[in-house]
Amino acid sequence: MLKYPFINSLSLLAFIVLIILDIIWGIGWWTYILLATVWTTLTIIGSFHIRWNYHLPALHFNHKIPDNLVSITFDDGPHPNYTPKVLELLQKYNARATFFCVGHQVKLYGGIAKQIVDNGHTIGNHTYTHANKFGFFGTQKVLLELQKTKAIIKEKTGVNPQLYRPAFGVTNPSIKRAVKKMELKTVGWNIRSLDTTKRSKKAVLKRITSTIQKGDIILLHDSSEKTVEVLEQLLLFLQQNKMQSVTVDQLLDIEAYA
Ligand SMILES: [Zn+2]
Repeated sequence: MLKYPFINSLSLLAFIVLIILDIIWGIGWWTYILLATVWTTLTIIGSFHIRWNYHLPALHFNHKIPDNLVSITFDDGPHPNYTPKVLELLQKYNARATFFCVGHQVKLYGGIAKQIVDNGHTIGNHTYTHANKFGFFGTQKVLLELQKTKAIIKEKTGVNPQLYRPAFGVTNPSIKRAVKKMELKTVGWNIRSLDTTKRSKKAVLKRITSTIQKGDIILLHDSSEKTVEVLEQLLLFLQQNKMQSVTVDQLLDIEAYA
């Protein structure tokens, strides 16, 4: 896979070669524009596609797992209406999941965050504000967001979360530095349900179940009634196919808490 430092070094080398060629033969300004366009395109795509591991290594699945296990993950909660319904369903089907929570939501709904942990699920860090401009924050601002979320989760639930799910799946050099400093493990996914789009429940469920296999990590959001309904269908599907959802730390064989 392509990596940001490698692409930077390669682009710098190409730039130097272009200058030399330009001095000798006068190859023209458009070659510089072409190089800049290639670099920008790769970096934009790499920043938005967590599975490229372009800026930092993230864990997306564990297909080597011997048992018929998958991991359902929920981002953006806790939500006062939907997270309790999600917890109820998970309990009904004896399934475990991972909740990547937004710090300010944990501050508002600490009791639900505590219930997530008490019910045997894993809680992780999903930034403090989930700001739309998060991808443009500098290292210090990212660090503050992640530290505040870690502190509020510790205060409300008693656990010290070490797993991080990037907001919007966006990564960049600032996020890489903050994650490294806090020694967090970044968790991605390999099945994106697209449950927050206008797709129907049926379409969302099909996106998940059409390719599902053991070791997969599924991305959902505990922030809508649609997802609650999809979840029940998914849990039924797993039951019928003798599959079980476990926490990501169990699936990936890593520690969720410090
Ligand atoms: Zn999110």
